[in-house]
Order: sequence, then structure tokens, then C-alpha cells
Amino acid sequence: MNVCLRCHRPLRNPAINGYGPVCAKAAQPTPEVERDLFGFDIEAAAAGAKARLAEFIDARAALALHELRQAFQVARARAWEGRL
Ligand SMILES: [Zn+2]
Repeated sequence: MNVCLRCHRPLRNPAINGYGPVCAKAAQPTPEVERDLFGFDIEAAAAGAKARLAEFIDARAALALHELRQAFQVARARAWEGRL
């Protein structure tokens, strides 16, 4: 993939998460909750899991939108070629 998943700018070297360098800095990673026998914070763990899930869903939705845009561009180009 060659565009940022967040702002859709074209990228030369996309990061692992699909963001460009500016968006990768802006998107803060969700901290992991430490797991130990006595101090496990269930609410913090649940909030972290929800945040990671929301991040994943946003990235997938952005990717799907990007693929849809590309498919429309291809379809438009084909329709235009057929017209000529
Ligand atoms: Zn970006």
C-alpha cells in the first residue's frame, strides 16, 4: 500500500502500521496493562483492549475506503476508455 491510512497522502516508505511519519507520531500507541498476580487492573485492561480494537477497526475502514477509491478510479478509467 502506498498511501497513509489516516490522511491518504502518498507515501514512499510507509510505516508498519500503514501511517506516514507525521500520522505515526500523532497516533499515540495504547499502553499495555501490566499483568501481575495481585495488581491486575481489569478496567484499565478492558479500556486498553477497546482502544486497540477501535484503532484496528479505524485502520481497516480506512484501508477499505482506499481500496474502494482505487476501484472507482479503475472503473472510471475503463468507462472513459470505452467512451472513446
Ligand atoms: Zn498520514
